[in-house]
Amino acid sequence: MKRRIFKAIWVVAIVVFLASFLFILGIGYSYFSDVQFRHLRDQSRLVKEGVILGGQDYIDSLDPINYRITWIQSDGTVSYDSRADINKMNNHADRPEFIQAMETGYGESSRFSDTLAERQIYSAHRLPDGSVIRVSFTHVAMWALIPAFSQPILGVLILGLIVSLFITAQVAKKITEPINEIDPDNPTQYYDRHDYKEVEPLLRRIAHQQSQLKSDRSAIERASLIRQEFTANVSHELKTPLHAISGYAELLEKGMVRTEDIQPFASKIRTESGRMTKLVEDIIDLTRLDNGESEATWESCDLYRIAENAIDSLETAAEASNVEISLTGGSTPIRGVPQDLYSIVYNLCDNAVKYNKPGGRVDVTITSGPREIRLSVKDTGIGIPEESRERIFERFYRVDKSRSKKAGGTGLGLSIVKHAALTHRARIELKSKVGEGSEFIVIFPKERD
Ligand code: ADP
Repeated sequence: MKRRIFKAIWVVAIVVFLASFLFILGIGYSYFSDVQFRHLRDQSRLVKEGVILGGQDYIDSLDPINYRITWIQSDGTVSYDSRADINKMNNHADRPEFIQAMETGYGESSRFSDTLAERQIYSAHRLPDGSVIRVSFTHVAMWALIPAFSQPILGVLILGLIVSLFITAQVAKKITEPINEIDPDNPTQYYDRHDYKEVEPLLRRIAHQQSQLKSDRSAIERASLIRQEFTANVSHELKTPLHAISGYAELLEKGMVRTEDIQPFASKIRTESGRMTKLVEDIIDLTRLDNGESEATWESCDLYRIAENAIDSLETAAEASNVEISLTGGSTPIRGVPQDLYSIVYNLCDNAVKYNKPGGRVDVTITSGPREIRLSVKDTGIGIPEESRERIFERFYRVDKSRSKKAGGTGLGLSIVKHAALTHRARIELKSKVGEGSEFIVIFPKERD
């Protein structure tokens, strides 16, 4: 960060420095040129007056070092030049300063001299005899000023470097100090504070992530608590039938059972192991749903046929409880996981039979609307008390534990239904009246193309 700040300041300093250097150089140069011209004008006038009074003798006596004096006759031939050999010089009638002097008495110009191979400024005066006396001076080019300036430039550059190093250290400290002092656990305390104004978006992002992390953490904690509870419940649920089985087996082993009791004992062992099998099956179902299925495993199926199968497998149990199951509807194509759809219908119907009254009814109805498919499982059973309607979908929650156990319930059926409905984006509605019956309606949204 410090390096970047330094670089930025240094680049800005160099750019500003160079720009102002060129600007000052330009102004200085134009001023300098102006002064040169003015001097030249004065000099040339003096030379002119001298020549008028003293003629060639006067010029010879001058012997100028920095100036060049040229005497041009009215036809343009050069009769004297203080620097060049007049024999090698061509006719000067075309020189602008000469033409101007011939016309108005005075002329000046600035150009590259062919004779001296330098840029010159010229000032020319016409003499009373019609000839022209010209004084010129080497015009210093702008770049020629740079070497003279190089030392102060270098000085300023070094000074700039030192100053920018100092500024960088200060600026970097000022910028990084408040950032380093931020307490990421409580970023909201810096809101609206002057020294944190620029980093407020960052603070808000940190705060947002903090709250997200917090909710993630509590979700993880909740999930782990649910898992712990679930494991404890499963162990407990498994222990009861296992104890019963080992108890009956022990009695049988020790020959403590009368011959006529062997059959009911064996039947109890079978019931208990059946309960265990059901529990394990339900756990497997839940675990599968917990792991989440991708839509890739979805297929087109018929909800009506699935319901037919589920009802078929419950027929014996229904007859035993003296409950009649009916199915209304027709072929209903649906996209989903057949196994989960089966679990939904099966568990709802299983409950509708289990928590029914002798001579009761279970009516399963499947209807397909323009936007949704409805599966209704309606019974004439014992009903569900208002305060338990939310909780019955929790794992291992039972309204009447002994009744559920007697009926071979695991306490997992409705949580499987809820979970499977969720993966199908379906919602569940429940209508119930204690003593009269319940209706579970699962509403599947239809896929929109
Ligand atoms: P269970 O294996 O005990 O049936 P569920 O999760 O399927 O477990 O159901 C939870 C509880 O909800 C049941 O123990 C029962 O008390 C109540 N319940 C579920 N369905 C019905 C219903 N159709 N009528 C009355 N009570 C029901």
